[in-house]
Amino acid sequence: MRRTVKILDIPVDNLTMEGAVERFKYLLGEPGIHTIYTPNAEIMMAAQREPDLKAILSEADMLLPDGAGVVLASKIIRDNLKERVAGYDLTLNCFKLSSKMNISYFFFGGKPGVAEEAAKKVQTENPDINIVGIRNGYFSADEESNIIEQINASNPDVLLVALGAPRQEKWIYKNKHRLNAKICIGVGGTFDVLAGRAKRAPVFFQKNGLEWLYRLYKEPWRFIRMLDLPRFILLVTAKKVGLKK
Ligand code: UDP
Repeated sequence: MRRTVKILDIPVDNLTMEGAVERFKYLLGEPGIHTIYTPNAEIMMAAQREPDLKAILSEADMLLPDGAGVVLASKIIRDNLKERVAGYDLTLNCFKLSSKMNISYFFFGGKPGVAEEAAKKVQTENPDINIVGIRNGYFSADEESNIIEQINASNPDVLLVALGAPRQEKWIYKNKHRLNAKICIGVGGTFDVLAGRAKRAPVFFQKNGLEWLYRLYKEPWRFIRMLDLPRFILLVTAKKVGLKK
């Protein structure tokens, strides 16, 4: 049975990384198309302002806490999430399954050339992986049908969508009925990191729930957006103590 923690009305899966990889395998074997998203506090907060986004996240087949803020929120409501499961780490762990299982991947998103570089790195690290197609994430509305045709023609098990959040979640939701894949995952900036174009926070920051601080230092223009992190924690707290319905 799926065990979730409801954070601001959005059910987040309460899984360890190992459990998340098991659920990924389970979803691969289940008929139909499935969605996996890994929201951080910013996206959870955006979903409070956008009911459509809240519905999209709530309908996911696996929703994992990418940020320390979401895990902190679960502690505030005293229904602890086991751990933070970052999308980047989950994706890498799914790639590792390729030594035992034949899973095909399509890489969609990122600037031209980035997904190719990412795929090369992944192929080197996982020689058995089956990458069946690649497409950058910059396109006009009238190119969309062609992209979907390209994806469907390569018949991937897993479609990785790296258009940034929440654009990728909305794109998957809008198109999933015409996509031929078993699982779609919103992977944000994963290809940039794999291609060496962006760096993840050092382990110290990751372990101490301070990835946001590192990001603020590296990308200070995100400051306004990042105010959603304290807003999110305040809102969760206010609801917990009954100051807000
Ligand atoms: N991206 C894309 N198409 C777009 C906008 C963004 O493929 O129209 C890619 C971008 O190149 C980057 C990724 O989406 O690789 C994540 O973008 P961003 O850093 O803005 O999103 P976040 O990290 O906040 O999810």
